[in-house]
Amino acid sequence: MIRPVAVIGAGPFGLSTAAHLRARGIPVRVFGDPMVSWRDHMPGGMLLKSTPAASSLDCPQPGHTLADYCDAAGIRRLVTDEDVIPVETFVAYGEWFQEKLVPGLEQVRVVSVDRGPGDGFELKLDSGELFTARAVVVATGLSGFAHLPAELAPAAADGPAPAAPVSHSSQHHDLGRFAGKELIVIGAGQSALETAALAAEAGARVRVVARGRGRVAFGAPPWKQPRFRPESPFGRAWSLWALTYYPHPYRFLPEATRHYLVRRVLGPLGAWWLRERFENGVRVRDVERVVGAEVRDGSPVLTVRTHAGGTERLTADHVIAATGYRVDVAALDFLGPELRAGLQVSRGAPRLGPGYVSSEPGLYFTGLPAAASYGPVMRFVCGTEFASPRLAAHLAAAHG
Ligand SMILES: Cc1cc2nc3c(=O)[nH]c(=O)nc-3n(C[C@H](O)[C@H](O)[C@H](O)COP(=O)(O)OP(=O)(O)OC[C@H]3O[C@@H](n4cnc5c(N)ncnc54)[C@H](O)[C@@H]3O)c2cc1C
Repeated sequence: MIRPVAVIGAGPFGLSTAAHLRARGIPVRVFGDPMVSWRDHMPGGMLLKSTPAASSLDCPQPGHTLADYCDAAGIRRLVTDEDVIPVETFVAYGEWFQEKLVPGLEQVRVVSVDRGPGDGFELKLDSGELFTARAVVVATGLSGFAHLPAELAPAAADGPAPAAPVSHSSQHHDLGRFAGKELIVIGAGQSALETAALAAEAGARVRVVARGRGRVAFGAPPWKQPRFRPESPFGRAWSLWALTYYPHPYRFLPEATRHYLVRRVLGPLGAWWLRERFENGVRVRDVERVVGAEVRDGSPVLTVRTHAGGTERLTADHVIAATGYRVDVAALDFLGPELRAGLQVSRGAPRLGPGYVSSEPGLYFTGLPAAASYGPVMRFVCGTEFASPRLAAHLAAAHG
């Protein structure tokens, strides 16, 4: 029997990779809940920060861009940099892409991956099925990587949760639960600022606690972008252009530089269209840093160091930590201990070679875990354009 390739994940990267492998005639089994990060782990009513040009899932079959979906669904075409994409439209686009190009998707979880007989892998599904794959693509995206800073841990003794004093931003879809409540959102990235604006619009009294003076900032609208710099899906700048279209040499940069760029490029900056909504409803508290957190009478209390050097306590009914994601292969608990131990890592992220292959032959990573090797573009949907054809070509040559 021909052993298939297993693609674990049905978000933008898993679906795009599967479309490329299928187009090459490679047998593939794809697992996961389609677009679940976007449907359940981002706030309803959210708008994408990326422009329509940067929000299509790459595939070799023509006719499957976001604009093609708009035509097929009979909705207004989203094409210019001024068109903002509602998350609900993007989820529907991903599901349409999946139905057309990845029809046999299996909505089950992979519970374990271990080295199998020969050079293959043995996978166990939560349906109880065991099978052997010739290669495995890990496209599990943000799952398992939500980061809660250590200073907030004392207020989240039983783990962060929407009903507990502290939660992580990935745990929210319906911010209406905070109507009439005092809410603190920690962070200054798009996720923090948009969560804060949406919660305020849903009736919460919201403060954003941001580290560093003047940290809350918004990007320039498309018509104010500098003219004489090259265009990239993220704005006009030489650095963005190079990182988007030429990520090939990224993995040869010094380790510290690679990790720094992943964190800082396209880092904390709100979208241009969010500014007015944010400023209308949200207060900002700049602090030196948050130094601790505790729970008093069931409510969270933050201790912050002020810019003047003193400490202050901030109270609320709930704190949302919009503190991002940290890649750590140790969090990928479905990878068997031997496989994980054999993986070469760089600060927790898998070290990838050409074609997105890890140090374990046949084991590939794409999406966020590949950012430390291929750059910040891998954090975004448009990264599928570079990653998916290269990964599929490498896999076809090595295991096709
Ligand atoms: C608030 C927020 C806003 C964002 N906005 C944008 C934006 O505007 N534009 C942009 O380009 N990017 C944006 N991003 C980044 C975006 O989330 C990623 O680019 C994208 O979702 C990554 O896709 P992915 O396919 O790698 O993973 P995900 O979309 O996270 O999908 C993961 C998949 O893995 C599956 N899975 C996980 N574990 C298992 C398992 N054990 N077995 C089987 N399946 C499993 C899940 O079911 C799911 O199908 C945003 C992120 C956040 C948090």
